[in-house]
Amino acid sequence: ALFVLGSFVVACSATVARLPRAGESLEAQAFLVEPGGKGLNLAVGARRLGAAVDGLLAIGDDALAALAGPALDRAGLPAAMLHGFPGPTGAGIGFTDAAGENCLAVHPGANARLGPAEVGRVADRIARADLVLAQFEVGDAAIAETFRIARAAGVRTLLNPSPFRMPGQEIRASKILAATTILVVNAVEAAAFAAALGLDSPEGRTEPDAFGALAEALLACGPALVVVTVGAGGALAFQAGHPALVQPAFPVAAVDTLGAGDAFTAGLAVGLAEGRPLAESLRLAAACGACVVCRKGVFDALPDRDAVAALLA
Ligand code: ADP
Repeated sequence: ALFVLGSFVVACSATVARLPRAGESLEAQAFLVEPGGKGLNLAVGARRLGAAVDGLLAIGDDALAALAGPALDRAGLPAAMLHGFPGPTGAGIGFTDAAGENCLAVHPGANARLGPAEVGRVADRIARADLVLAQFEVGDAAIAETFRIARAAGVRTLLNPSPFRMPGQEIRASKILAATTILVVNAVEAAAFAAALGLDSPEGRTEPDAFGALAEALLACGPALVVVTVGAGGALAFQAGHPALVQPAFPVAAVDTLGAGDAFTAGLAVGLAEGRPLAESLRLAAACGACVVCRKGVFDALPDRDAVAALLA
């Protein structure tokens, strides 16, 4: 099974002709409210691909919290994944323009309250997993404790440091990175890591050479595998002592890039947890990312195995 430590965020998104400027009010062509958050997206994405999924997601006690139970139920995820705190549920608001570009702001709410105590209560479930996943919509202490438990039990860990923040004061001394087996970063996160490590920015580039020095530095921090996703430019995978693997993006007409990284990460995690070779898992991941960008929203756009197979064929 996969264990997802992550966020539950109710995502509100408006479809607009172009992104609004400061002080401007635009008419939206569509408005969508859907349960999301990187944690839920990863869990749903992996479950839809057929994986058994467990995890820990925090919700508040407000009106938005009531969306969580039915969403998990609809996705075939166990209700035991939810942990309730008093106060607001995580919520986000975003815009997607005609070109499929997006921007958003997220209030963490209950997600910020998950800590080592809540993680400790599900330690046996973490230790039983094949792969444990975390993103940065929950706090460092919860992630560090989850990864500590996983690694002590010999379970692989996958970190998607999104939205980006420094994993500890000094990257090279980060406990979280030291306990990470697989690190998945997008172009923004790669540029942030490069800046923090004093390396040339890979911004705007997609070829393996642009990320070689960065990947080498990140591999030295703990991960055995570093995957960089560069949107329509595809994905690159780096392992110490191996040539970079290049996974091109599937050529599709993108309508909404929201959730591409989450879908990709879910696909990669499922492939690796199923024991598939890295190259095959990357192809599965890229197909998941491509499926999501072809549809508006994330929750309903995350593909099942048939949708992925159609693209892979
Ligand atoms: P994020 O959503 O975190 O910014 P990316 O934009 O890098 O992540 O997308 C993750 C993966 O999803 C890419 O590596 C690619 O495989 C797939 N993907 C993203 N955008 C597209 C696109 N326009 N067409 C096809 N595949 C895409």
